[in-house]
Amino acid sequence: MTFPTQSRAVIIGGGIVGCSTAYHLAKIGWEVTLLERHKLTSGSTFHAAGLVGQLRTSANITQLLGESVKLYGRLEAETGLATGWKQNGGLRLACNAERWTEVKRQATTARSFGLEMHLLSPKEAQKLWPLMQVEDVVGAAFLPTDGQASPSDITQSLAKGARMNGARIFEDVDVTGIVVERGRAIAVETKQGRISCEAVIVCAGQWTRALCAGIGVNVPLVSVEHQYMITEAIPGVTATLPTLRDPDRLTYYKEEVGGLVMGGYEPNPIPWATAGIPENFNFSLLNSNWDHFTPIMELAIGRVPALQTAGVKTLLNGPESFTPDGNFILGEAPEVAGLFVGAGFNAFGIASGGGAGKVLAEWVAGGEAPYDLWPVDIRRFGRNHGDVNWVRTRTLEAYAKHYTTAWPAEEFSSGRPLRRSALYDRLRAAGACFGEKMGFERPNWFAAPGEDPRDIYTFACPNWFNAVAREHNATRDAVALFDQSSFAKFYLIGRDAEAALSWICANNVARPPGRLVYTQMLNARGGIECDLTVARVAQEKYYITTGTGFATHDADWITRNLPQGLDAHLVDVTSAYAMLALMGPRARDVLRQLTRDDISNTGFPFGGARRINVAGAPVTALRVTYVGELGWELHIPTEFAATVYDALMAEGAAFGIVNAGYRAIETLRLEKFYRAWGADIGPDHTPLEAGLGWAVKLRSDTPFLGRAALEAQRLAPLRKRLCAFTVDDPDVILLGRETIYRDDSRVGWLSSGGFGHTIGKPIGFGYVRNPDGVDDEYLVSGRYTLEVATTRVDCRLHLAPLYDPGMAKVKA
Ligand SMILES: Cc1cc2nc3c(=O)[nH]c(=O)nc-3n(C[C@H](O)[C@H](O)[C@H](O)COP(=O)(O)OP(=O)(O)OC[C@H]3O[C@@H](n4cnc5c(N)ncnc54)[C@H](O)[C@@H]3O)c2cc1C
Repeated sequence: MTFPTQSRAVIIGGGIVGCSTAYHLAKIGWEVTLLERHKLTSGSTFHAAGLVGQLRTSANITQLLGESVKLYGRLEAETGLATGWKQNGGLRLACNAERWTEVKRQATTARSFGLEMHLLSPKEAQKLWPLMQVEDVVGAAFLPTDGQASPSDITQSLAKGARMNGARIFEDVDVTGIVVERGRAIAVETKQGRISCEAVIVCAGQWTRALCAGIGVNVPLVSVEHQYMITEAIPGVTATLPTLRDPDRLTYYKEEVGGLVMGGYEPNPIPWATAGIPENFNFSLLNSNWDHFTPIMELAIGRVPALQTAGVKTLLNGPESFTPDGNFILGEAPEVAGLFVGAGFNAFGIASGGGAGKVLAEWVAGGEAPYDLWPVDIRRFGRNHGDVNWVRTRTLEAYAKHYTTAWPAEEFSSGRPLRRSALYDRLRAAGACFGEKMGFERPNWFAAPGEDPRDIYTFACPNWFNAVAREHNATRDAVALFDQSSFAKFYLIGRDAEAALSWICANNVARPPGRLVYTQMLNARGGIECDLTVARVAQEKYYITTGTGFATHDADWITRNLPQGLDAHLVDVTSAYAMLALMGPRARDVLRQLTRDDISNTGFPFGGARRINVAGAPVTALRVTYVGELGWELHIPTEFAATVYDALMAEGAAFGIVNAGYRAIETLRLEKFYRAWGADIGPDHTPLEAGLGWAVKLRSDTPFLGRAALEAQRLAPLRKRLCAFTVDDPDVILLGRETIYRDDSRVGWLSSGGFGHTIGKPIGFGYVRNPDGVDDEYLVSGRYTLEVATTRVDCRLHLAPLYDPGMAKVKA
């Protein structure tokens, strides 16, 4: 095969992910060249244990893993090359009450996502896995469609399938550089020559970060050692044994040639290659580290006593790339067009390889993700992820938490504090318990004097419940101050700013200066890519604010979709402004003490956006709310923030002002039926389905991205709609992902869950789905129940906010 000088796509890396991407992209019909610096599988793939589990906390990532299972089940028949795929099912144990609650919640999540999962008694679990002792087991879950595979065989099989569809695969070709011209990847360099291309797809495992850093693309992953041992044959270990995960003992198992593979996630992981990956590290392993593995081994012997006497073939130590949040990294890099990444697989690259390669290929070919892949999207990272030491610190914490209980609202603790608002010290002194997003410390709730500002995690009612209730009620009845300085903030500046934004915004932003608009930005399918506010602060200047976590994503969406040739430039001003949200019926009374500007309802109506002076500071005030009360977002040049904060707190004292945090924002917005992007709305949901049709300019003639899809959707009945649900029993805890039943048929799951302190009830949002349409009549005529941790509870459906300031504030 002659070495090409041109190929439509070049894939770098011949592990399972590169080969899967080549397989799928070639099937789509693209011309594909895959370059592997050594031999296929010689990175992390050859030494993987090969467990394939599917259930994740996101429906779409669970679907992606399900795609792997479907592919592995049919690949051998297609290519003639064995894959070692065995669908023996997967067992998961619970050894204490909290873990059992977690497993039951996972079983409900599985039901929500249509994945089969059964709860078993310890004895039933033991029947499936006779070698284990179950004295300490409270219960178990069994996923019959999970399985195991031979990682190298699957990869070779995928490579063959790729070749059968026309892909060219070259081994012993090291990509030495990626060529970028005017912000676009256009070629790769190798010793054998340059290959020009339309898309470069980097599937280079743990080498990806260094390779991409060379062209200014940040892929925050680091290498960590991971060990498992392989035993000689053990009597009683059969070829049909399910895989086993025993998270309370930090271990996993699978059968291999009559023996066991047993590995674990130790609480003190060892980073690898901190000074760079050595040259020629291929088909290579690290030295076995028995000292480090002994605590895992002891835990395992407690479960499987036969391990005590089993012969050990090897203790395998292989490095793998891990990421700061435990999820892999997919998508087109925000820094360079045409440069795609599929890396950082956190020791589940075999499980995800089939599905990840499929969606990555579709992403390349289609120009956008085929469905919402936000949990793994490369744009979920931000400026805090640029420092490799910080990334390593956080990644080691994420690794250590692999098998610990995933608590509701759990925060990471490492690498903090990193980004601090100008008010951090004040808020800390006021009793703030901080959470962190994008490296930014944000108050979650405030402890009363004598209370400890510390989260105590539980699946039951948490220790911050009363504090959040206090802040919630103060916002409804008096006034509260929220430090939301971490918000991402941009200016869009230029002669054509209005024309540019009019194309990418679904709502009408062609308003006079001084007006603010809440809008979505849609993809061509009509799905919601961004959900933000746009304030026109001057004729040629818009001020855009969006959620902390969406800084990279939204900036990328906007810049990519600005029509060519227009004079409109996006500038990130996140760090230039602090933001204090002053919210509550007494907000005007407080603000009036500190400004001479007209802030009356006529002088500063809802949707206004104006420069006012507050306590001597020049402030951009936006009359908007996410909590459902009178209020202003005060965007304050950072150096004035402390002065404004002090003045608001001092003047607000007479009106009952309190500090309030993000957990109160959550309970408040749930009562108002305000949607959250990434949970209730996203690329797979249109504004019509989400109940946001009122914020779309379909009645005007203005063309906008996504318009055609919405017009088409309007012609047929909607097949899903976002609804709110309340449960009368206040002790039911809704966290999201609970299954929604209408007249005993499964129709969806909760995208958000929480508690409304004004209405005194648990609240959830979720899409109700029906292929024949979901009009109001259909929605309100059903009898609804929610499945919560496998138990059904009655609930009521609502199509309108559960609370309005005009309503009598009667606790139900
Ligand atoms: C001990 C251990 C156990 C594991 N067990 C499991 C398991 O049970 N289940 C599971 O799902 N996952 C498991 N994994 C994880 C799994 O091995 C990885 O997630 C997966 O192999 C990652 O595949 P990849 O294609 O992303 O990377 P890799 O397999 O590392 O492939 C990357 C390839 O890129 C090539 N490359 C790098 N730079 C260049 C360049 N400049 N030019 C050309 N080529 C380049 C490399 O040579 C390499 O072959 C385990 C991992 C370890 C370490």
